[in-house]
Amino acid sequence: MIIEIKLPVQYQEEQLMNRISREAKLPRGKIREYRILRRSLDARKKPELYYVMKIAVNEGTSYEPKVSPRFSRMVPEELRRRVYIAGAGPAGLFAALALTEAGVPVTVLERGHDVDKRTEDAARFFETGELNPHSNVQFGEGGAGTFSDGKLNTRTTDPDGLNQKVLYEFYKAGAPEEVLYDARPHVGTDVLAVVVKSLREKIISGGGEFRFSSCVADVSTEDGKLAGIFVKNTDDPDAAYEFLPADVLILACGHSARDTYRMLFSHGIVMQEKPFAAGIRIEHPQEMITKAQYGTPEKATDAASYMLTAKAGDGRGVYSFCMCPGGYVVNASSEPMRLAVNGMSYSGRDSRNANSGIVVQVSPSDYPGEGPLSGIRFQEEMEERAYRAAGGRIPVQCYGDFRDNRMTEAFGNVLPEMKGAYAFGNLREVLPEVISRAILDAMPVFGKKLRGFDREDAVMSAVESRTSSPVRIVRDERGESSLSGLYPAGEGAGYAGGIVSSAIDGIRTAAHVIDRILSGTNEGRDS
Ligand SMILES: Cc1cc2nc3c(=O)[nH]c(=O)nc-3n(C[C@H](O)[C@H](O)[C@H](O)COP(=O)(O)OP(=O)(O)OC[C@H]3O[C@@H](n4cnc5c(N)ncnc54)[C@H](O)[C@@H]3O)c2cc1C
Repeated sequence: MIIEIKLPVQYQEEQLMNRISREAKLPRGKIREYRILRRSLDARKKPELYYVMKIAVNEGTSYEPKVSPRFSRMVPEELRRRVYIAGAGPAGLFAALALTEAGVPVTVLERGHDVDKRTEDAARFFETGELNPHSNVQFGEGGAGTFSDGKLNTRTTDPDGLNQKVLYEFYKAGAPEEVLYDARPHVGTDVLAVVVKSLREKIISGGGEFRFSSCVADVSTEDGKLAGIFVKNTDDPDAAYEFLPADVLILACGHSARDTYRMLFSHGIVMQEKPFAAGIRIEHPQEMITKAQYGTPEKATDAASYMLTAKAGDGRGVYSFCMCPGGYVVNASSEPMRLAVNGMSYSGRDSRNANSGIVVQVSPSDYPGEGPLSGIRFQEEMEERAYRAAGGRIPVQCYGDFRDNRMTEAFGNVLPEMKGAYAFGNLREVLPEVISRAILDAMPVFGKKLRGFDREDAVMSAVESRTSSPVRIVRDERGESSLSGLYPAGEGAGYAGGIVSSAIDGIRTAAHVIDRILSGTNEGRDS
């Protein structure tokens, strides 16, 4: 049976068992097992905090997901053939997992390094500013989400059980059990690195292989079909490209692979501009946020989060993005002389600050230019200004000075928690005025919704430009791009945003490739 109960957040196991016994009208001795199906925090009566839980009693303890038959097919031995996947982010990894589980061997080509070496590359960048353009916060095994807060929530509806499948694989790969039932599951960068490695091992044991420092630098085509891929060794810029004959490629390159977008564009692959958002990242004392959200930090079991939205005077949406409780602002750049920020945290969420992006909706009308890649140019220009604003370090400014359009000379009570060097800079010179205006319209609104949010000494940094892809690679109902055999997947394809929805899109794309293989003709669209 399924029951619903509510308990104070600091409940003991004994209290839980008594409550289950009472709700289920079962004596304690008759309760063989229970499984939490869903747990959410109720802070409406703050500072009294409660967990509201849905629990399965005497219905087994397994969290094994039930996915639709389409996503658990096996490919007969005689039809199996190797599939190439570009990118080892969530979309690429879960496409690889889905294909190897169906018996299809894959080769994952990742331009960056494996997660251990990548972690060293990122640490060196934070300490010295020496950027490896192929192995950094955006690029490398695990993809963009590896240095993150590791929030695993998604708004995607889940008719096929794929959301639970992704969470279950994270759990099996080392994430805590809570990710299977918490309303807002998160894992943090430290756990993500473990998860990524375990997923790699599982894919390899299923017949997959990984090639790191291997960038898909170009494609060859014949009569509108993919005929092969050119792979560049990113550790040896002088090495000749390697040609791999291929008629199927899953392209899961993320939203920061600008050279790859330009390469595809040069082959006439159909792409569209897509609205996205840009702005700054803001930091506040975590204690202030937890007090505002929970009433009292003492009773809280975790660092509180927030989600804020407002409308600017010109009607644009302004909202908090990728909020990281107890986290760090991170230098998320991937190109020389361009600077982008984002947020990350460790599983403990125990830094002294909370941070989030405060971003403003922008659309193609904001960046007039030629063709579908003009949004990328818009991002690049903002990032170049951010790089110049503080001599290549993260430009920071207190909110009061941002409002009054002047440089900050000294911090107030909020001191930055950052991965990467920072220095004072005027963010008003980095952002297009429409974005600054919208943020200035929204901040007082946020200050009313969350007390102290618009304090003068809140620390802002820029530029938050990689919120989602400004481009969509058009694909048809078979998951194929305008180039037959090329299957765009994940955030970079413009059909997903976030770790879990990108992973789900990877699984869906793998299913399209399995359709093709099972068709036996190995033909996608009719030639
Ligand atoms: C700092 C940060 C924090 C984030 N925090 C969260 C969070 O808490 N929760 C959340 O849900 N989302 C978060 N995100 C967003 C999330 O990481 C992405 O939405 C998700 O990773 C997209 O998955 P993907 O597989 O489509 O692409 P990506 O993760 O971007 O992976 C693409 C991979 O492809 C590789 N690649 C690129 N070009 C090529 C090529 N030509 N050849 C071979 N390989 C290539 C890249 O090196 C990269 O590893 C965060 C992002 C960042 C940057």
